[in-house]
Amino acid sequence: MKLGSQVHDISCPHCGAQTRVAFDTSGGELQFIDDCTVCCNAINLRVQIDDQHQLMRLFVDADDEQYY
Ligand SMILES: [Zn+2]
Repeated sequence: MKLGSQVHDISCPHCGAQTRVAFDTSGGELQFIDDCTVCCNAINLRVQIDDQHQLMRLFVDADDEQYY
């Protein structure tokens, strides 16, 4: 695993379209929101770094669990 700029293709949890996200893992774990380029809904992304196994895990959620 190399840390730094990452580009991943993910499936939008709202419409299922493939969308590309770019982020930087050099600062460790992160959480951010990106907008689907097709349906424009917010996609919740969470990146976990597993130092022990040298793995990066990318979690994709629909951004519908927020409390207002
Ligand atoms: Zn979408």
